[in-house]
Amino acid sequence: MNSKRVVIIGAGPAGLMAADILSAHGILVDLFEAKASVGRKFLMAGKGGLNITHSEPLPNFILRYDHSDWLKPMIDEFNPNDIVSWMQSLGVSSFIGTSGRIFPTEMKAAPLLRRWLSNLKKRGVSVHCNHYWKGFTTNGDLRFSTADGEKVITPDATILALGGASWPSLGSDGAWVKILTSSNIAINPLLPSNCGFKATWSQHMDSHLGKPLKNIAGWVKNDSGEIQKSSSEAILTTYGIEGGLVYALSRPLREKVVSDGEATLYLDLLPYVTLNKLRALLAPSGKQSINNIWRKAGLDSVKIALIREALPKDKWSDPICIAAFIKEYPIKLTGMQPIEEAISTSGGVKREALTEDLMLCRLPNVYCAGEMLDWDAPTGGYLLTASFASGRFAAKGILKNLT
Ligand SMILES: Cc1cc2nc3c(=O)[nH]c(=O)nc-3n(C[C@H](O)[C@H](O)[C@H](O)COP(=O)(O)OP(=O)(O)OC[C@H]3O[C@@H](n4cnc5c(N)ncnc54)[C@H](O)[C@@H]3O)c2cc1C
Repeated sequence: MNSKRVVIIGAGPAGLMAADILSAHGILVDLFEAKASVGRKFLMAGKGGLNITHSEPLPNFILRYDHSDWLKPMIDEFNPNDIVSWMQSLGVSSFIGTSGRIFPTEMKAAPLLRRWLSNLKKRGVSVHCNHYWKGFTTNGDLRFSTADGEKVITPDATILALGGASWPSLGSDGAWVKILTSSNIAINPLLPSNCGFKATWSQHMDSHLGKPLKNIAGWVKNDSGEIQKSSSEAILTTYGIEGGLVYALSRPLREKVVSDGEATLYLDLLPYVTLNKLRALLAPSGKQSINNIWRKAGLDSVKIALIREALPKDKWSDPICIAAFIKEYPIKLTGMQPIEEAISTSGGVKREALTEDLMLCRLPNVYCAGEMLDWDAPTGGYLLTASFASGRFAAKGILKNLT
């Protein structure tokens, strides 16, 4: 077993975690990466503060994934507490933010990646950068394009950890979809997730674009009338709207946009004020200007601009009408931002194309892990957690099956 050679393609969180497990068990690991250095998306994730996992109770945590029953055994084996302990084992401490999100104390990915990589190298993992996987030979061997021409490698087992298709400049370009589809592997189309959505604003909104909508709640109604909610911030942009609230609702919004060509995002612009209280606050009062009344009710300039944008002027002095509008402000979304600009990708290799150990049913000894699998989750540390956990799980599958 120890003389077995496993190739991992893709040096992101999933591939690195697979290398970690296999090398700890004495397997010879060759890690191939298209880019000139490893973990570029992981490093980018650390730019705004590396939200590596989340502290909410595990039963709730699991439900954040669209395919939670599939991911549960993987995350049970490498849960948020395990991620914290694993970071600690690399000398990286962490903290829980006010929203329950977990970050390394230094917030960045670079120190963690540096220590992780050095550990892997000490265990003999060979890292081959600038090796772009092009597919299989007719014998099922691996074809790489390199600066020195094509290389063909014949491992005992392979893990594909090629990522999704967002931010392709960081390495994951989704080209694997074509390769695996030609081997008749079932794949759900890659679509943008945790992304901005298109909406049209009049010129009147120009000076408010780029500004945040703070302390708001939002929801989407699906065809069966179910409501999915989120409360966070959003940012109005030249193309429409983005930000944490929109990302958290990106799955139901995307489903609506894909099926109907458009979706409606409803916002409560003052979620901490009841409808009745709001009606009272918005009642005309003496010589006070409408703007003054609105400000005193708690609306800032961006929220006021949104109301002026969509509510006819003759309704501005009607407290019942305007209060209802503030509590259920509809924004028509007509599309998603391109996948290249999304934080993550939905779709990927379908569960039924894989064994329970994440081996491709049609390609024995070829496993898949990470964001290239067909699962989706909001931001909040869920993406990295599932990438780590599935990388680990695929590696464990190899340890079990490769005799
Ligand atoms: C801006 C941004 C911020 C993010 N912030 C967070 C966050 O705070 N928390 C969180 O949980 N998630 C976050 N994410 C998402 C997270 O980074 C990804 O879900 C995660 O990196 C996926 O890991 P992976 O190993 O599956 O794929 P990737 O990290 O994409 O790694 C795949 C690797 O495969 C390589 N590769 C692809 N094709 C080939 C090929 N043909 N040949 C050889 N190599 C190839 C790529 O170069 C890449 O290095 C963020 C993403 C972005 C873009």
